[in-house]
Order: sequence, then C-alpha cells, then structure tokens
Amino acid sequence: MAFAPDNHRGASAAAKLILDGRMTRVRVILLNAALGPLDYRAPPGVTLEPGTIVLAPLGPRQITGVVWEPERAPTDEIDEKRLRPLLQIYDLPPLNAPLRRLIEWTADYYLAPVAAVLRMALASASALDGSRTITEYRATGLVPERLTPQRAQALDRIGNRQGLVRELALATDVSDGVIRGLVKAGAIEAIEVTIDDPFPRPDADHAAPVLEPAQREAAGTLVRAVQTGEFAPFLLDGVTGSGKTEVYFEAVAEAVRKGLQTLVLLPEIALTEPFLKRFGARFGCDPVAWHSGLRQSQRRHAWRGIVTGDARVIVGARSALFLPYRRLGLIVVDEAHEISFKQEEGVQYHARDVAVMRAKLEAIPVVLASATPAIETRQMAEIGVYRELRLPDRFGGAALPDISAVDLTQDPPPRGRWLAPSLVRELEANLEAGEQSLLFLNRRGYAPLTLCRACGHRFQCPNCTAWMVEHRLVNRLACHHCGHVMPPPRACPECHEEDSLVACGPGVERIADEIAALFPEARTTIVTSDTIWSPAKAAEFVGRMEAGEIDIVVGTQLVTKGYHFPNLTLVGVVDADLGLSGGDLRAAERSFQQIMQVAGRAGRGEKPGRVLVQTHEPMAPVIRALVSGDAEGFYAAETEARREAAMPPFGRLAGIIVSSEDLAEATETARLIGRTAPRVENMAVFGPAPAPLAMLRGRHRQRLLVHAARSLDVQEVIREWLGKLDWPRGVRVAVDVDPYSFL
Ligand code: ADP
Ligand code: ZN
Repeated sequence: MAFAPDNHRGASAAAKLILDGRMTRVRVILLNAALGPLDYRAPPGVTLEPGTIVLAPLGPRQITGVVWEPERAPTDEIDEKRLRPLLQIYDLPPLNAPLRRLIEWTADYYLAPVAAVLRMALASASALDGSRTITEYRATGLVPERLTPQRAQALDRIGNRQGLVRELALATDVSDGVIRGLVKAGAIEAIEVTIDDPFPRPDADHAAPVLEPAQREAAGTLVRAVQTGEFAPFLLDGVTGSGKTEVYFEAVAEAVRKGLQTLVLLPEIALTEPFLKRFGARFGCDPVAWHSGLRQSQRRHAWRGIVTGDARVIVGARSALFLPYRRLGLIVVDEAHEISFKQEEGVQYHARDVAVMRAKLEAIPVVLASATPAIETRQMAEIGVYRELRLPDRFGGAALPDISAVDLTQDPPPRGRWLAPSLVRELEANLEAGEQSLLFLNRRGYAPLTLCRACGHRFQCPNCTAWMVEHRLVNRLACHHCGHVMPPPRACPECHEEDSLVACGPGVERIADEIAALFPEARTTIVTSDTIWSPAKAAEFVGRMEAGEIDIVVGTQLVTKGYHFPNLTLVGVVDADLGLSGGDLRAAERSFQQIMQVAGRAGRGEKPGRVLVQTHEPMAPVIRALVSGDAEGFYAAETEARREAAMPPFGRLAGIIVSSEDLAEATETARLIGRTAPRVENMAVFGPAPAPLAMLRGRHRQRLLVHAARSLDVQEVIREWLGKLDWPRGVRVAVDVDPYSFL
C-alpha cells in the first residue's frame, strides 16, 4: 500500500495514531545483510509497531525492511534532520514478538546476519503488496507461423506448465523475450490467477481412526498439550509402521478445532506427496504446501494465508520454519533424525533445533517424530528436557522385519556383479511369490568412478575435488557437488586410447542393469533424485507401486522413509559398509538409522518382511546391532563413546571454513585465523588443514574445527576472534555451528 502522508485513513492496520504529533523515528532492519539497522522517519502522527513491514529508501534504491525495537537493534543514531521518510507501510499484520526473538536467536546462535534470517520470514517479496491477482501464462496449443528453434524448444518443453514469464523461460531454457514473443504470436496466453482465495478448512473429524491403546495414550498426551498451549517438547519414538503419523494427526486435529495453525516439517519435498494424500484422507482436504518447487503464485498465496492465519495446516521443507504464522499452535518435525534438516548454505541452521526454539518462544508444543531418533534428541529425552512417547509395536500386529547379514567374504557375487547369490535367490523367490522388493544403494548414477584401462587416468571434476559420476541413462558424466556435466568421451583425454574407459563400482543404474540381466521379465524402477525430482513424480511412483506395476525398486536414501507399500516384503542393502568409510562423528549412527529406515519399508502389511544386509564386516557393531535388533545397546555404546570424547551432545563443535578462488589467499587467511585463535579454557582449535573437499565449485577450501565444552559460549568467543581480523575481499569465511558435514 502506497503511503500518503496527509491521509491517515490510508495507513496500515499496524499503524496507530498518536496524539502529540511529534515526528517519529523508527528503527528498521533492512533485507540487506551488509547493512546494520537504520533509522527512518515514520509518517507524522503515526507510530509503527515493531514487526511492521515497510519499504524504505536506500540511496536511489527501495528496499524492504521490518520495524524493530531500537533497544534490540542498536546503531549510531543519525541526526533527526537527516532522517528520510519511509516510502510505504504494507497492509499486513506485523511480525509478532516470538518470531522477532526467533530471528534474533537464530542470527546469534548461528553467527549469521539478522537480515539473512529475516529474509527467510519474508520469503515471498511479491506477496507483500495487496493485489489479489497475478498474471500467469500457459500454452494455447496454437503453433505460430514463424517457428524459430528457440520458439520450438519453448513450446516443446512447456507442456501444461503455467507460471510467470520468467518461470516459463527458466523451465524451458529460453530467454524471457522468446516467451513474450510467443505471447504476442498467440501461442501462449495470459490468465489472471486469484491469489487470495481462502484455503479449504481441514475437518478435524473427517475420518478419525480408531487408535490402538499405545497410540491412544500418546495421542491423548499430545492433544492435552495442544489444549494447554504451553511450551512442551516431545519425542515421539515409534518403530517404523507404528502409526506415528496417525498419532500426531490427533494433535493436529486439536489445533484445527482451536483455530490454530500447525506446521509440519518434512525432510524432503519428495515426501510431501504421500503426506498430502494421507492428510487428505484424514482431514478431507489438502494442507498448504511450502517448498522450493512452488510457483510464484502458489508461494504468494501460501505466504498470505500463513500471515493472515487462513492457512491452517502447513506442510513444508525446513524453510517453512521462519514464516510469519499468525496463530501457531503446534509444530511437528517428522523423520526428525534426518540430516537434511541441517541447512548447509547461507544461514547454516538445523531446522529441528530451531523448531524447538520457535516452540519455546511461541509457547506451544513441538513433536519430534522418528523411529531412529538422533543421539542428540535421545539425550534430551534422557535428561528429561523432552518428554518421550513410545510406540513399541507396529500397527495392526504387523511384525518388524527380520534382518540378517550377508557376509560378502563368504558369499561373494560373481566378478563384475554386486548382488550375492543368497540375495539373488531371495529376489527370485519374491518375484515368484508376486511380492515387491527394494534394493537400497545410496549412490546415484551408474558408477562412482570412471577410469582409463590403458593409462589409469581418472575423470575428476574441473571445479571440485570429486570424481565425475557416470550417468548412463542420460549418457553423461556429472559432478554431484557442483553439477558440472560432460559427455563421456570416446577416447581417453590423457593417452588418447579409444574405448578404453571402464566404470568402477556400482551406482543404482548399474544394479538395475544387473537385475535386468538376472531377471529380464522383472519390472524394475530406479528411484533417486534424478528420477523423482518433483512431488508429481513421487506421486506417479507411488501410484505404480500401489497398482503392482513394479516388481523391484532400486533406490537411494530417497526410498528409505515415509513410504508404506504393504506388498513390499524384501529389502536388500547392497553395501552396508558404504556409510562407515567417511569416519565422521556420526558415521555409525547414520548407517544404523539409514538401514533401520530402509528395513522399515519391508513387511508393513500382512505379509512379513525380511531384510538382507550385504557387508564385508558382519562383526562391525552397527551390523551386529541391526541383526540382533539391539538398538538400545548400539545407542548406549555410541552415546558413551561421545560422552568420553566430549563430542556432541556432551561437547560442542564449530567448523570454520575458509574459501577462495585463490589458493594462497585461502591458505593465508586460514593460517591467520589459526594463529590468532584465543586461548580459552575448555576450548581447543584444530587446523587449519585443507578440507577433504579441498576444492568446491572452483574455490579452494581450508577448515578449522573448534571443540569446546558444553558450558562455553563458543559463539561469543568466535565472534570476538574473527571480528578483529581482516582478509582479502575474495575470501569467504563461514562458521558452521553444530556441524553435520566435515567435508
Ligand atoms: P510410521 O510413520 O510410524 O512409520 P504410519 O503412520 O505410516 O507409521 O502407519 C503405518 C500404517 O498403518 C499406515 O498405513 C497407517 O495409515 C496405518 N495405521 C496406523 N495406525 C492406524 C490406526 N489406528 N487405524 C488405522 N490405520 C492405522
Ligand atoms: Zn564439481
């Protein structure tokens, strides 16, 4: 809404008249991480509440910002006479105090600029202005007379997409001009989309299930917590297939009855689709989705629904955590152990941990649901900070699958193959029985490494310390770190020998080839982020599985969670040793979680499931724990090892990553940081050393690791330490508090 200084009726709902008529100074945090808070002049006679969203002048530019409490955003005050007036006050409810405190806490804890966190709350800039419609474009089916190759490409790829000119241009890989030209030529038409339509209301009693006793007890506790409306963190710890979703749905239903909003965080957008279906079956309508795959109009619609409180249940990826909910009553973090909740770029926050903090500030319950909770989370339950609700059995009397190890040293696959004879026999039996099987290998593509048979040359990414991975389905080599791709060359670039390239090791595509050779009649599908890149693709996969059109799935971690296929009875883990090689702090825990989760896909219906785990080390503690079913013993040993080494959650870590395109600059800066490390009791600094990923996207990387006691305010120490240093412009220094990646 444009600001009219002499017409107060135009002022926003957030603006209140004051009677003494003084000129008012307001402090504003702008969406620009390089700037500190700045003062502006509010319209005469109007006082702006903290949290009000405004548009402010900055030099010749206009920039969005939020009014903040001056005492919480100190800055050098400029003279009254030099204050510039605000340009606009948006007609939106102000960001509430709990959200403002969350933004401050996140910035403080993760050593990020407040503006960078604030940007996540105002994630849809175009949603700020109040217009109710947006113009989108879609193909009409008409082919224009003048059909240039660019136009042909655009029309070829557009399908039934709909979106802004920019979105269509990006999706079809042409310039905006080509799309506009097609609009003029009548091949693409404009349509007005309403963005302020109310969202359908979930019906709390649409199809409530009859809960089993343990479910009922857990659900009852959660429902009471929603009724009470106080901060209450829960760990909902239930084996795979125990009905955790049904249980927390009862809490969601209670929030719906009270007219409160619920946020459900999921670790992957691919999981949104099965979730939408289940939600629809329970509540009679879709929840509101929030993820990176939304069109701008959908994003805008969702954002406005969230701000006004009209959107009642929001299911989203981690970025949904910072949105300005009007009346938040409950947060659920599903599959809470997933490390994809950790954001690795920009503000490096952990959505699970920030979710708990948001619940605390909003004074509402939060539920962390998992069959394999993280050690950090279990520890919080152990010391009584989180309340643990347990579901020890699968729903409907289904048995947990039987897990056994296949010792690859005793039962090796034939040369050039990856599946042991005993696993092949099980697959065959399952095919004959008409039941579905799943092979899990956490490696996309055909082979992780390609080399020249003649000279041994290995294909490495030119931008990263990483091998180029062969993707045979699309006939190219790809870097999984920076996205660099190249066609596989006929001849070795080093020794020029022709047809000398060999693939080393398996990826999912190679396993699918092996299946095709073994069982030519089996219907096999590959599930990775290359094949399931959108919720629609996930829905298609689920549909085919449910219709029995797939016999064998070969997939990465994308198939380990969330899915429920009653006819899936056999799971084979192709390489259980893969995750253990990294040697990071959580390697064993993560392997255990991943294999438990994928095992949890088996035997969820009436037929029992079995799981074969291929390994070279059947006596490794992880494998023994999986086979014996002794999760408690495994967790206890891991927890003890962490405690002894004062590793998280018993101690604290922070990574400092120094990077630059210039090797010498990166090294120099890292050394400077290492040299100036403060001597603080209960803190040690390791490094600098070249990062395992010594080069990433063309930048040389050095790492330091800070290890400190739990009681130390390590952020304060780091802030003080790095704050005094200077480094060349091209150098980036990122601090990763509570790191999950050590690459
Ligand atoms: P989890 O998330 O713990 O792995 P789910 O919530 O996916 O388990 O539940 C497993 C299956 O059992 C789902 O198909 C779910 O709909 C079903 N289920 C669980 N509890 C009930 C119940 N009380 N009544 C009917 N179906 C249930
Ligand atoms: Zn790369």
